[in-house]
Amino acid sequence: MDITIVDAPEHERVVEFKDNSLGLLGYIAIHSTQRGPAAGGVRMRPFGHPAEALDDALRLARGMTFKNAAADLPLGGGKAVIIGDPHEDKSPELLQAFGRVIQGLNGLYWTAEDMGMTPADMAHIGSETEFVAGLAEGEFASGDPSPITARGIFNAIRVTAQHRFRLSGLKGLTVSVQGLGHVGEHLCQLLHDSGAQLIVTDIDTRQAARVAERFAARVVAPDAIYGVEADIFAPCAIGGILNETSIPLLKVGAVAGGANNQLSRDRDAQLLHERGILYAPDFVANGGGIVNVATEILRVAEREAWVAGRLQALEQTMDRILTRAKAEAVSPHEVAESIVHEMLSLQAA
Ligand code: NAD
Repeated sequence: MDITIVDAPEHERVVEFKDNSLGLLGYIAIHSTQRGPAAGGVRMRPFGHPAEALDDALRLARGMTFKNAAADLPLGGGKAVIIGDPHEDKSPELLQAFGRVIQGLNGLYWTAEDMGMTPADMAHIGSETEFVAGLAEGEFASGDPSPITARGIFNAIRVTAQHRFRLSGLKGLTVSVQGLGHVGEHLCQLLHDSGAQLIVTDIDTRQAARVAERFAARVVAPDAIYGVEADIFAPCAIGGILNETSIPLLKVGAVAGGANNQLSRDRDAQLLHERGILYAPDFVANGGGIVNVATEILRVAEREAWVAGRLQALEQTMDRILTRAKAEAVSPHEVAESIVHEMLSLQAA
């Protein structure tokens, strides 16, 4: 195995790992360990070029620093990427070799599931390192995070509705949901139970029809979701969907959802702000997932109470962000970034 340090000035440590005999090539990016060991999942994707994979790891690792700090977890930010098709190129040996790279970092980085990975893969990685979470079995195993992620998003939607519409509940509001996978379907259940009307979409048309029937929702085609009239839009599929093409189409009062990196660029937050659309920053809205994973990393004994407390803290953070954004007449994304910077610099002082 070849391990090379990669020069990345804004990150604490970045390594490239390569084992030609196993077809293994990837990166671990550690953005910050200021608040604790860097934690963030590993994703496997067939990137076009290694530079693309490195770029993804760097961007996502920074995002994890922000997400973990916003959730007030004693964890820093990191992320790993493995280049390859998860259906074709993954093997127990490849995952074990990756596990040994993590072990070699001596606890600076904890991994967990991300795109292209399963709990069974985490078990293979875990046969070579103790620094892995998202296991299906074990004393502190945290399992599927998506129900907790959805609960956190639901709370974010409630807070956003309070700020945008001066409503204490969601009864009678219409929420459009993009993506009905692990997170989106749980979220639809919570929204339906709270009396919201749903408009849903998914590129998987059978899943869309199934969820629509379950929750008496209206289904629209994937591209049509941006133009539907609703009170709140909840993106729960892919990143980059809030951009200069989609934002002018939106007919909603607010956007609050769970997808990672919803803004195509930071300045898209400003476009939303100028249109009077209140945007709940994604890395705060979807923090429930990492809260769930953290119970495993931090070996939390009173799991349920601890998770409930953290979800409540996340909701209060969202409230603080939206309050300050209104007072300063800026976008909530800008406020959320500056709150995290303040938390990090206070800690460094
Ligand atoms: P998933 O793969 O289970 O579900 C995603 C769904 O989106 C799928 O049903 C897919 O068909 C659909 N989809 C993909 N592209 C689409 C498009 N263009 N239009 C409409 N539908 C589309 O993933 P998930 O675990 O539900 O995660 C959803 C999002 O939430 C992702 O961005 C993920 O990074 C983020 N997230 C998830 C968690 C978690 O706990 N699972 C935690 C934090 C953030």
